[in-house]
Amino acid sequence: MPKDIKEKLILSVTSLNYNRYPDPFAFRVCDAFGRFAGIKSEYITAGNGSDELISLIFGSFLEKGDSVLILEPDFSMYEFYCSISECKPLLLKKNLSLTFAPDEIIKKANENNVRMIIFSNPCNPTGQGLKSEEVLKIVNGVSCLVVIDEAYMDFWDQSVINSAPEAKNLIVLKTASKAAGLASLRLGFAISNSIITTYLKAAKSPYNVNSFTQAAGEIVFNEKEYLKNTVKLILDSKNSLYKSVKDLESEYKDIKVFETHTNFVLVESIKAEHIHFELKKSGISVRLLGGKYLRITAGSSEENLKLINALKLVLSETDKKEVIK
Ligand SMILES: *Cc1c(COP(=O)(O)O)cnc(C)c1O
Repeated sequence: MPKDIKEKLILSVTSLNYNRYPDPFAFRVCDAFGRFAGIKSEYITAGNGSDELISLIFGSFLEKGDSVLILEPDFSMYEFYCSISECKPLLLKKNLSLTFAPDEIIKKANENNVRMIIFSNPCNPTGQGLKSEEVLKIVNGVSCLVVIDEAYMDFWDQSVINSAPEAKNLIVLKTASKAAGLASLRLGFAISNSIITTYLKAAKSPYNVNSFTQAAGEIVFNEKEYLKNTVKLILDSKNSLYKSVKDLESEYKDIKVFETHTNFVLVESIKAEHIHFELKKSGISVRLLGGKYLRITAGSSEENLKLINALKLVLSETDKKEVIK
């Protein structure tokens, strides 16, 4: 974060009214986010991270025993909150290319009397995504609530946020934790029509977003240029990481690289566990998924280089061992 923005944050911290409760509707930060995202603040509910909003949606719109359609693999917290709410997860496995057809979801939801569909778009952890028209096809093809978690959509251009105020059954989730780089603040947003928004605001705990977070979030979402440039820098880094890993793919047969709409690259390998272990030994932490995928987040250019060199070393050594065998 540049120094001038940090200075604005410091100034706002010194002028807070510490003996007062925060604004329960977080109006100013919703307004700043709304102007950033092109949405009127009356359709926005702020949460203590989008994680809180996911929990709130499960807790306020669903009852014990309700079926929720969840994709596999997807963000792990959906199943967690589903279980806490004693709802039934109806899991739909993605195909080998880690995508899924909108028609398949519509059919499964309608045939099983599903009360809610929730998935991330683009997906964490796969980096794959559905185009906005396909997402809207799902929203229009079912009568249940559809929650689209757009935590990583700042890195792609297929948001359905503009459809949320008009749609009768859509909630779009946004977070300040990813592209805006503010995970420590705990700030997320739910965008939906005015009826759903009224219920969300009624059901949430009154002071869920603290005054620091409201003030800091307001400042950062007013810095459109900074946010735009940050996304560009991250995407440049991702593209360069993708290209380097792709080069390794042509050199070593044991890895397959997925194209991605996020700031991370997904690698599939039968040696994923071994690679994960070896990278960890060199001080590099990537995410191991299902024993056969690695999610590698783009970092600074030095970090990317260090990763590529370490990955190359592991791959060439396992290659050698196979020749000896
Ligand atoms: C990171 C992430 C979240 C959580 O975001 P917070 O606002 O930090 O709670 C939610 N959904 C997905 C898909 C994420 O990747």
